[in-house]
Amino acid sequence: MKGFAMLHIGAIGWIEKEKPVCGPIDAIITPLAVAICTSDVHTVWAGAIGERHNMILGHECCAKVVEVGACVKDFKPGDRVLVPAITPDWNSLEAQAGYSMHSNGMLAGWKFSNFKDGVFAEYAHVNDADGNLAHLPDSINVVDACMLSDMVPTGFHGVELADVQFGDTVLVIGIGPVGLMSVAGANMRGASRIIAVGTRPLCVEAAKGYGATDFVSYKDGSIEEQVLAMTDGKGVDKVVIAGGTVDTFGSAVKCLKPGGKIGNVNYLGEGDTIGIPRVEWGVGMGHKQINGGLMPGGRLRMEKLGSLVAGGRLDVSPLSTHVFEGWDHVEEALLLMKEKPADLIKPVIKLAD
Ligand code: NDP
Ligand code: ZN
Repeated sequence: MKGFAMLHIGAIGWIEKEKPVCGPIDAIITPLAVAICTSDVHTVWAGAIGERHNMILGHECCAKVVEVGACVKDFKPGDRVLVPAITPDWNSLEAQAGYSMHSNGMLAGWKFSNFKDGVFAEYAHVNDADGNLAHLPDSINVVDACMLSDMVPTGFHGVELADVQFGDTVLVIGIGPVGLMSVAGANMRGASRIIAVGTRPLCVEAAKGYGATDFVSYKDGSIEEQVLAMTDGKGVDKVVIAGGTVDTFGSAVKCLKPGGKIGNVNYLGEGDTIGIPRVEWGVGMGHKQINGGLMPGGRLRMEKLGSLVAGGRLDVSPLSTHVFEGWDHVEEALLLMKEKPADLIKPVIKLAD
């Protein structure tokens, strides 16, 4: 089969590989549509997960099942499915402890285009099909369905990690596609005010649509000065971090009220340590919680978040700004994600209806 791969750090291209083999609890899928992620760019050009040779890229797709193992109960060839970016081993001890994303090792629930070939291929392997796939509702088109692989579950997980409650004032740092879904999630959880940090006009417009009430540009001075000024010096109840650097944590802690919580889903690519400001962290006693996590993945989450889209409660269509048709456009779409022009949120490649 053909797959679009990372040849080594900094190099991409089409390669030929053997079709993956289906184990007894697994499935083999063929994508109906795939989406490019900021993480694909980090993987290829920033060496985020280290060196990989001829590894097929991609972890965001929806698909048709072509084969299932003998022990798979709920899926059969021909089924159309939502596919999460994170596909844990659900019988692992870590999953039993509630940390499916770390099943069999830290971050090891992330398998596609990390520990095995990804979904930018004619066929891809899904471990634990009953635990990880979800049936694709007829009312969700294949482009929107791709946003359920990673953008919706990751953005919403940031909101879970920050523990957003009714009436909270929430700061969302970063309003790329992940942060936009954090804005949408915070809004659904009943935030009274959502302050969004980002500059791309298209993202600012989309954030307004998802419920952001105030905006801050990290290019116009420090985030904390601007946020404290707009909250009468009080700060915010919760912070979701979906963009920025290791220094962003300092700003988040400074913006947070005592007892507040930070939920980080941003990938930290540089810097050995994360600086926590001593005084604003209550000299160690401020009850300001810092949580960071990979999204949990799995079928239940796909079904629940899918039902928000299918039921019209969440419109993910503003995210897919660039829709291509056919595998020939994968390279172009990936390079577009690398460049991040002002009019881009997500590139998606449609392969079938
Ligand atoms: P984008 O690059 O599209 O968005 C990043 C956002 O952060 C933009 O709004 C950008 O603003 C803003 N930003 C950039 N620099 C700063 C800064 N110094 N201070 C504050 N804000 C800043 O990324 P995505 O939305 O695609 O992804 C966000 C992060 O989530 C990435 O690191 C990605 O790797 C990670 N991720 C994590 C997953 C998980 O499971 N934990 C899964 C998927 C992705 P501007 O408008 O100016 O561009
Ligand atoms: Zn992704």
